Amino acid sequence: MSKRLRLLACVLLATHAACAQDVSIRVLGLFRFRQITLQAAPAQAVIVHAGPKSFVLERSSGQHIAEITVAGDDLILTVGDQSIRTSSLRASSRSNGVADFVLNIPGKITRRYRGVLELKAAAGVLAPVVQMDLETAVASVVQAESAPDTPLETLKAQAVATRSYFTAARGRHHNFDFCDTTHCQFLREPPPPESNASRAALATRGLVLVYRDEAVAAMFTRSCGGRTRTPQEVGLSSHTYPYFAAVCDYCLRHPSRWVRRVSPAEAVELRDRGEASRLAVDRRLGWDAVPSNNFTAHSDSHGVVLEGRGEGHGIGLCQAGARAMAKSGGSFREILDHYYPNTTLVNRSTK
Ligand SMILES: [Zn+2]
Ligand SMILES: [Zn+2]
Repeated sequence: MSKRLRLLACVLLATHAACAQDVSIRVLGLFRFRQITLQAAPAQAVIVHAGPKSFVLERSSGQHIAEITVAGDDLILTVGDQSIRTSSLRASSRSNGVADFVLNIPGKITRRYRGVLELKAAAGVLAPVVQMDLETAVASVVQAESAPDTPLETLKAQAVATRSYFTAARGRHHNFDFCDTTHCQFLREPPPPESNASRAALATRGLVLVYRDEAVAAMFTRSCGGRTRTPQEVGLSSHTYPYFAAVCDYCLRHPSRWVRRVSPAEAVELRDRGEASRLAVDRRLGWDAVPSNNFTAHSDSHGVVLEGRGEGHGIGLCQAGARAMAKSGGSFREILDHYYPNTTLVNRSTK
């Protein structure tokens, strides 16, 4: 469906799933699981639709939990003493819109979401996808990405970067828009409305970074080591916004330094200082095995020692530098101007 048609459907049908400013996010992506429970949040009702049948989950009715397990390519849905087999299910509010619900992988994790849940089995495991309002997704990422003491202007800059990414980078996955791991953007629960993460999303509502009339899939990094990188420098392509290396005063003065030891074979693999080879090594040895691609290498009698600066790919907004800019009085617009040169801010809100 074109963006215009989606927007029209959103207005006419007033169903959230059709809204142009919704994003579908594959959640709990770090886990592989064959069983999950779905509960209505306190004082909320959730309607579970499975083929022609539907069930109401509501604490006041004494029936607020559904249990779902994988059976081949299908699901077994159990609510109270009823059990049915279905190819997929959908969970929403009574008005077929956004619901507040809780997912629990027994023995592993419990997480709350706000949106419309779609659940199927994929390759023998459960694959929950939550269709959520763009602004809910933005606030959830801002909360997940930020330390508790992060200044509000930094959170606002993060909110704009995240919203821009969600606006520009759809299509990274086939059956949903984004995953909830750092492959796309790290997302957990929606923060409370009074939190600074929610305030930052609300204060920048609809604002998106644009370069030559196209939204920028804005990347960000934990700390840059003193100068941000362009995608080309680390072997990545960038089809729209080319990025521009920005000097980061805070990281120049307070670089995050690290030392790691790797095998000679891994040192050869990392020789191109490319992001793909760094991530390949991290996938094998652990997410923090090589914290950045900004390092020098030397051999000793035990192998190869890497001495590096910065954390992450080094592209785009530097979170450490953005925090320092805000603490010295910088606004979110100044932060964005600094780390995303030659972009403009536009309001893409349709609500
Ligand atoms: Zn992803
Ligand atoms: Zn920096």
